Amino acid sequence: MIPLHTDPVPVTAEAVVVGAGINGLATAYELARRGMRDIVVLEKNYLGSGSTGRCGGGIRQQWTTEENIRLASESVRIYENMSAELGYQVFFRQGGYLMITEQEEDLPALREAVALQNRCGVPTRFLAPRDCLDIVPDLDISDLKGATFCPKDGTAYPFAVVWGYARACHRLGVRIFIRTALTGIEADDGRIRGVRTDRGDIATPRLVNCAGPWARSLAAMVGVDLPNRQERHEIMVSESLKPFLDPMVISITNGIYFSQSMRGEIVGGIGDPAEPRWERPEQFGFHSGLRFAVRFARELTRLYPRAANVRMMRQWAGAYDVTPDHRPILGGVPGLEGYYHSCGFSGHGFMLGPMVGRRMAAHIATGAADPIIDSLSLERFASGDLQADAFVVG
Ligand SMILES: Cc1cc2nc3c(=O)[nH]c(=O)nc-3n(C[C@H](O)[C@H](O)[C@H](O)COP(=O)(O)OP(=O)(O)OC[C@H]3O[C@@H](n4cnc5c(N)ncnc54)[C@H](O)[C@@H]3O)c2cc1C
Repeated sequence: MIPLHTDPVPVTAEAVVVGAGINGLATAYELARRGMRDIVVLEKNYLGSGSTGRCGGGIRQQWTTEENIRLASESVRIYENMSAELGYQVFFRQGGYLMITEQEEDLPALREAVALQNRCGVPTRFLAPRDCLDIVPDLDISDLKGATFCPKDGTAYPFAVVWGYARACHRLGVRIFIRTALTGIEADDGRIRGVRTDRGDIATPRLVNCAGPWARSLAAMVGVDLPNRQERHEIMVSESLKPFLDPMVISITNGIYFSQSMRGEIVGGIGDPAEPRWERPEQFGFHSGLRFAVRFARELTRLYPRAANVRMMRQWAGAYDVTPDHRPILGGVPGLEGYYHSCGFSGHGFMLGPMVGRRMAAHIATGAADPIIDSLSLERFASGDLQADAFVVG
């Protein structure tokens, strides 16, 4: 068992990381690996209680901007060795991602994306509809126009990743406080001085905002205005079945995605264009509804008729922390030394988290510039230099 603290917090820390999802824990772990001491992680609820524990566990490198492709492929390399590195089985499996479309007009963009991914070293290939049957024999290809496939994409079990990082953090001396909320931030003379929590105050020169869907409210405490909005997304898991589906299948036409976990369950979701965007998750809540179950079942059985007899066991909802260009917001802000954020993952923070944590930790610990963090800074929105990522699915 990892000791998870609920007692009073220490009076000082070298760094306070807010949020025990994949990003907060990966950043804390990587900071500790670099030799930083007295790192505190604050989690207002339980480990993985934010988006991480609600996600589909999908890990793909098929993106249309170079930053996302590089962050994802570097993260895949970490995932490939993660169970050994963290000393915890995270159930990472590279069954690939089959990305399908039913629209002819998507084909040029898919071909361009394959070329860019190949230039970044990702072995994606373009497929005609009939070739998809070699990968998913029971797929109904009647309406398909084309697809791309990367055999090195995969899935991992989100809670195991969180628990693995938490244990590794603990071994390196990081103290994780659950049921402990950050309630205020002290800053003066343009620098972070400390934080207030519901279990006491901590003096610290560094605050890392990994609060996921709550990152925007947290940033507002120090006058940082994030453009992030929150979108409700539902997902479901079926009964466990013998293995029959290797890759994650995702459709860029209607946003459905489904895969089979190593425990045999079908895990899948579908985006809902009727869902509005909100400022805070509290405005919509994490309830789940029949509309999702019906939409998902209808689409799943249309594309994959074999799933008709599979029983849904459970469904739940979470939030996508969405930015205007669907890419994360990383780094600090000018004029506020010691403040950093790592948020706005727009529905793909589980696949980017390991490498984002590693790069953020190097940047925080050494102050060295990082080209990817720089290009994903908050300032890009003021300059209007936006390059949106296509194919955001879910
Ligand atoms: C249905 C669904 C499916 C998804 N599927 C995928 C997928 O297949 N692949 C993928 O890559 N991504 C997926 N995502 C997105 C992914 O889950 C997120 O991008 C990622 O988990 C973000 O991790 P995080 O650590 O930044 O934030 P979170 O996991 O949300 O963690 C933030 C934590 O901060 C804590 N916190 C907030 N405010 C405070 C405070 N004031 N004090 C203390 N603690 C606080 C919260 O309690 C929370 O635990 C999905 C998301 C959803 C909802």
